[in-house]
Amino acid sequence: MEHILTALPEKAKDKYNEHKKFFAKIKKKTPKHLDNIMSELHDAEFKKTDCLTCANCCKTTSPIFTEKDIHRISKHFRMKQQRFIETYLEVDEDNFHVLKTAPCSFLDQQDNSCTIYDVRPKACQEYPHTNRRNFHKISEITLVNTAICPAAFNIVEAMQKAIDVGVNPKGKKYKFNGRD
Ligand code: SF4
Ligand code: SF4
Repeated sequence: MEHILTALPEKAKDKYNEHKKFFAKIKKKTPKHLDNIMSELHDAEFKKTDCLTCANCCKTTSPIFTEKDIHRISKHFRMKQQRFIETYLEVDEDNFHVLKTAPCSFLDQQDNSCTIYDVRPKACQEYPHTNRRNFHKISEITLVNTAICPAAFNIVEAMQKAIDVGVNPKGKKYKFNGRD
């Protein structure tokens, strides 16, 4: 996995324009069953990707901690919410609570496991958001994620093979082969 993660930012940079154009086409003519397509592509990718061999998201980026997340996690630690915030979090430029440090304070760096797995932030549960409904609406963040998450990169590549935007300009019958 290490060599895949090392090469990923460059690979994502090389594919950035191609992926961006693809998302622009998908936004213009959104496949009718995009949610089903994404659900299949997501499941197929995560059948072969073991996050415990990677943890690149936990090592390099921060999830957003919502009020509900902060309430749940501080309760788990039996900490006052304010103390939890002061200990682990800071406010970013968009006014969201995010981690003070990377890698995440809750990552066990011996085995890449999350030490607060059952109460982890919602953003961690959903990352890299590739089975989210209306996936085409989060293309900006997905383009960023393709440089962080090898699974997200593979899923966008698989999308391009599964959704034939060029051949079906009316957006009716999209070729979908499910997995590569
Ligand atoms: S979600 Fe992506 S970046 Fe995070 S551990 Fe899994 S494969 Fe790696
Ligand atoms: S809370 Fe857990 S899943 Fe979320 S970034 Fe930290 S270690 Fe990763």
